[in-house]
Amino acid sequence: MSNTDFALAVEDLTVSFDGFKAIDTLTLYIDKNELRVIIGPNGAGKTTLLDLICGKTRASSGSIKFKNTELTRMAEYRRVRMGIGRKFQTPSIYENLSVFQNLEVSYPGGRSVFGALGFKCTDEVKAKVQVVAEDIGLADKLDTEAGLLSHGQKQWLEIGMLLMQEPELLMLDEPIAGMSSRERELTAELLQRICKNRAVIVIEHDMEFVKRIAHKVTVMHQGKILAEGPMEQVQADPKVIDVYLGH
Ligand code: ADP
Repeated sequence: MSNTDFALAVEDLTVSFDGFKAIDTLTLYIDKNELRVIIGPNGAGKTTLLDLICGKTRASSGSIKFKNTELTRMAEYRRVRMGIGRKFQTPSIYENLSVFQNLEVSYPGGRSVFGALGFKCTDEVKAKVQVVAEDIGLADKLDTEAGLLSHGQKQWLEIGMLLMQEPELLMLDEPIAGMSSRERELTAELLQRICKNRAVIVIEHDMEFVKRIAHKVTVMHQGKILAEGPMEQVQADPKVIDVYLGH
């Protein structure tokens, strides 16, 4: 298959820290509307892989192509403009602003959080906020101060802030950490909704949740891919049971 069939094509990617290969000649392809989950033991290289894709860390060798454009040496902010969004575990929302304002300031070219209060929110921005608020299940909380939201709602708001930038690839690091079982269920539904318009990569440890959401699972170990495929297939793989699931 040619690279043009994929949203993301990572080929022979390697990064070394003081001679230690945290990612070792790794090759990975993600389809356009795919929800891929990356699992693996601590230290496997999952976070480093996402850091390389978003540009937080630079590769030692290999290539990363997004929408068939070479990203490997591109600055992080340019990757954001190209449509790559990344959510870290700790939400970075503006607690003193309303849900609406948090989404509004995240719109590309929208007002700065420090900007003038007299700024007139355009109909275009309002419409976009409404669509995103529905996607993240906070349409009835637009006037609520973000600091008053539950832990789960704060996480969804941050996902919404990324969605305001219309990413074509969204990467999430343990999105259900600290959530109640109801919030986990709503997060699964949210992820299924948002991957209809983009590729989504999730790092996750909770196997029940992985089973619930993954189109395909990539198992990493020692900077390499140990197994890849549907969850039923990888969880029956003796190599995966040996290094990860059996513990
Ligand atoms: P995971 O997310 O799967 O737990 P990480 O990607 O965080 O794994 O780490 C993979 C390996 O790379 C670990 O051994 C970690 O200590 C090492 N590592 C990650 N980032 C750095 C860095 N900036 N400098 C040195 N070693 C690092």
